[in-house]
Amino acid sequence: MIMPTKSIETIDLPRSSMANTRTLTVVRYGEGANGKKAYLQAGLHADEPPGLLVMHHLMNQLDRLDAEGRIQGKIVLVPVANPVGISQWRYTTLIGRADFNTGINFNRNHLDITDQVSADIKDHLSQDQNANVALIRNSMLNVLADMTPEDESAFLKHRLLSLAGDADIVLDLHCDFLASVHVYTGTSLWPDASDLSAELGAVVTLLANESGDNPFDEACSRLWWDLAEKYPAYPIPAACLAATVELRGSMDLDHAQAKEDARNLVRFLMRRDVIAGVVGEPPTLINDATPLRGVEHVKAPMPGVVVFLKKPGTVVEPGTVIAEIVNPVEPLPEKRITPVKNNAAGVLFSINTDRYARPGRILAKIAGKEPIEGKGKNLLTL
Ligand SMILES: [Zn+2]
Repeated sequence: MIMPTKSIETIDLPRSSMANTRTLTVVRYGEGANGKKAYLQAGLHADEPPGLLVMHHLMNQLDRLDAEGRIQGKIVLVPVANPVGISQWRYTTLIGRADFNTGINFNRNHLDITDQVSADIKDHLSQDQNANVALIRNSMLNVLADMTPEDESAFLKHRLLSLAGDADIVLDLHCDFLASVHVYTGTSLWPDASDLSAELGAVVTLLANESGDNPFDEACSRLWWDLAEKYPAYPIPAACLAATVELRGSMDLDHAQAKEDARNLVRFLMRRDVIAGVVGEPPTLINDATPLRGVEHVKAPMPGVVVFLKKPGTVVEPGTVIAEIVNPVEPLPEKRITPVKNNAAGVLFSINTDRYARPGRILAKIAGKEPIEGKGKNLLTL
């Protein structure tokens, strides 16, 4: 007789108002199993719904696999990772990307506990790689347990990292405006993570070991290569494969597609021995990974209405007219239209849904193969 392993925990967030408490729901499979741990969350940017739908289909599939006794590792799901952001309505629109109280993007400024962990482990590292991994994971959890978050959002970020910090795999499900599937992950995790991109049919994979402002995936993974660099005499692997998965655009909500996305994630988890099952080779990767520093942000030079001439997924040469900006106030017809061109050769993977341009507004993103000079420290968009 196979006993189901699924459990559901509801965590109260500390109140930020006198009368209301928000809750975070955590779903676990394979609790107590000795094996790898995978952590997946959706909706950290609370106004990005495709990940929430994929979670629904993923849980349906995991329920079946659990009933068959096939969860051999641990799987932790947070299907709605941002109860704060999902409460932020302005008139008829949910605005869930940044905290209304602080203006801080919910996927930035996650905790960086590298210094505390480093101080904790430095006298205990050895030549045994597995022992170092266990030591560092244990230290991460201890360091986090000793912290006292100040408010509701800080509590949320702290709790999400506490749930994910000791995982082998962390997948943070997001979406873009109008976009192809794309993945952000660490340079140190490539090509190891290539089966993730291949399985998901990602058109673009963007690599950086430090994207700037500590997004959630890097809060989980960057510590590993930072410690490896700090202690080169000891074997410290990149033990957490963390990635931000962009599931197309915010309007891409289709049951068949979300079900397929969930199946792709299950296949990835099977290949990684979290779930028992035989999977063959992953599909061929559509495009090799490119540096996050190589992403060109094609910006509007002037105000006007934007008409896109190219779709996400298109390979473009430099100087391609990606969009036109139309300003009907201009008296001369030839001056009413301004073509917007790119500089980098690469894959157009995202275009804006906002069709009112203003100077400097990012209209499109292109994954180029070469790093772009002068990008500075922060490689992600606001
Ligand atoms: Zn997002």
